[in-house]
Amino acid sequence: MPCFAINTKLGTGMIDSIGGPVRVNNFLSTLNLKPVNSKSLKNMERRAGVFVEAVANTSTRKAATDAFNTEMEEIGEAESAEALKSMGQMIDDLGVCPLPDSLVASGKLLNVIPSSSLDLDISFESDDTIDDQQQNNASTPRQTLSTPISDDSPKTPCNPTHLEKRVLQTPRAPSRSEKFKKKVDKVKGKKVVKLSYPCKTRRGMSAAADTAWHKRGFDSLTSHTFFMSKAKYGRKVIKSVVRHRTCGTCNWWRRNRPRMPVRKHRCVCNHIGSAKLMECKSGVQGVKELSDEGTPIEIIEGDGDTTMLSHIKSDLNMTLKKRYDRNHIVKNIGKNLYSLKKISKSVIQHIQKCIKYAFAKNQGDKTGMEENLRAIIPHQFGDHSSCHSRFCGFKWKPEEKYVHRSLPYKASLKDDSLRSQLEKIFEPIVNNAEQLADLGSSQQCEHANREVTLRAPKSLHYGNSESLDFRVAATAAFINEGRNSRKYITQTYVL
Ligand SMILES: [Zn+2]
Ligand SMILES: [Zn+2]
Repeated sequence: MPCFAINTKLGTGMIDSIGGPVRVNNFLSTLNLKPVNSKSLKNMERRAGVFVEAVANTSTRKAATDAFNTEMEEIGEAESAEALKSMGQMIDDLGVCPLPDSLVASGKLLNVIPSSSLDLDISFESDDTIDDQQQNNASTPRQTLSTPISDDSPKTPCNPTHLEKRVLQTPRAPSRSEKFKKKVDKVKGKKVVKLSYPCKTRRGMSAAADTAWHKRGFDSLTSHTFFMSKAKYGRKVIKSVVRHRTCGTCNWWRRNRPRMPVRKHRCVCNHIGSAKLMECKSGVQGVKELSDEGTPIEIIEGDGDTTMLSHIKSDLNMTLKKRYDRNHIVKNIGKNLYSLKKISKSVIQHIQKCIKYAFAKNQGDKTGMEENLRAIIPHQFGDHSSCHSRFCGFKWKPEEKYVHRSLPYKASLKDDSLRSQLEKIFEPIVNNAEQLADLGSSQQCEHANREVTLRAPKSLHYGNSESLDFRVAATAAFINEGRNSRKYITQTYVL
């Protein structure tokens, strides 16, 4: 619908940057232009919102499939490499080795075969064939993006399947990573067939999840949850869930036209219960939808709340693993230290810094983490008996006089009762060293939440209509596609 393009573009602008109808009219009045009826503006926003949601859905589904496939391939390759190591006299090019109980002579016989005659380097004629082969050899079940769409489905702007088909048809420039991949292929000229087998130890990917409410405290009427891929796989939104506890239209009809049927509308109310429960329910919904789409999650990285996992277990009968977010852990320890009211802010900040170092240095090393965490408090009191030279300057350079540079007066702390209190706080942390040696991060979700507050400020209530859904979808599209998202939205509806 090209004739409405500029109006719909204004609708996209309202969702993505300007704000609601009042803000648009304020903007027009500063330009000395006539205001537009707010109902018309709202209609424009609704029309554009459908396109924004279609672009966001396609983009998040693609990001989920990419992240899932990459992670599964990486794990599969790591498993294959480990298996190869344990196989002993393996001839790499052939992919065979003598059985453990076979004769020594047969092993020697295999070694006699010249490896040059078994070169498996295959040069492909075009990049497309490589991609096809890679897809066929996929170690994990792949979800194809283009879901079968029947041609008889009505091609109305409000039909989401038709819209998603349009989004897929929209020509796109290759992303930076795709360009880089092609370049590497061209430089090599030929592709080496790798010995990789399907991943066996894991079934799902890992993702960061975090919920934000649009009002401080615990009586917010709306919330949104983002599931995001890890930093290694692009920090992209793979699923967004919005929950509303009210619907403006339903409320109006109930108040002004009691006992009359509510007019047909897109009802947004999808949650009954407390605001805190929204986090768990959104988590359950996101995990269910992702596993239905063929990209299941196995590890959730997030803050210290485990109620979401118990809800997932009871509702979906799925057991997920949890990885704590390191910043949340450090923050919680800081809260406990502040509640002592005995040590100054600078000392608390110094202890937090030490914990951060310990987390960063000992990832994947349980005993190292336990030793390091156990030594932190005695070290501040000048007792270096449990310290190791890798994290303690006193042990590292014994010939030099050691000073605590970050503590007050550069001297160690002195108070036995304080030490016992601090050790009491640290005891559960040290006992939990195994979990702390495998930490995740959900910082990308915090960034996404900030982007949402730019589109839907907390001081304004957008949650009575689908307006909030559009804004969260616009954020997801923006994070995944960057500034190109607006171009795709425009191209989608002009097509
Ligand atoms: Zn409603
Ligand atoms: Zn020390």
